[in-house]
Amino acid sequence: VAHNGSPQNRAYIGLGSNLADPQAQIMRALGALDRLPGTRVVARSGLYVSRPLADLPQPDYLNAVATVDTALAPHRLLHEMQRIEREQGRVPGGERWAARTIDLDLLIYGQSVIRSASLSVPHPGLSQRDFVLQPLAELAPGLDVPSLGKVHSLLESCPRRGLRRFEASR
Ligand code: AMP
Repeated sequence: VAHNGSPQNRAYIGLGSNLADPQAQIMRALGALDRLPGTRVVARSGLYVSRPLADLPQPDYLNAVATVDTALAPHRLLHEMQRIEREQGRVPGGERWAARTIDLDLLIYGQSVIRSASLSVPHPGLSQRDFVLQPLAELAPGLDVPSLGKVHSLLESCPRRGLRRFEASR
């Protein structure tokens, strides 16, 4: 329970970046998440390097997952995550949005299973993405993903795409 008495929900947020100093983008987004009202980033995974999903030539991605305790409702949290994405995507002095430099995905929100027009939780790509499941398993071994099962079972049946560890976790 937070100081204001709001119930805290444990959420997991996936972070990815492949532009404009990805490590700095991920650290900046973690800071912004930690400053959201009623919200604390309580842990983060190590950083992982993954190949882009698309066939288009583009830089490798840097990925991580954060454990977040929040009093914000799921749609409100998503809204704040999208605001952080927009703020970090802005080219200083530029007229238009840059290519997105940070991607934030709400992977899991407590025990919730949500399928609304703007929000699907657990995140639909979760069970197919080693760059999500590996850091998630590192953060929360034994985690039971609502409607999907144990994170380690999901990781075992997930296609591997040559994920590499970038640095030790904190
Ligand atoms: P993307 O460009 O792949 O990050 O997709 C962003 C869109 O996915 C937004 O319109 C969101 O409303 C939608 N969305 C649905 N479920 C989620 C989720 N769990 N996390 C983040 N975005 C989501």
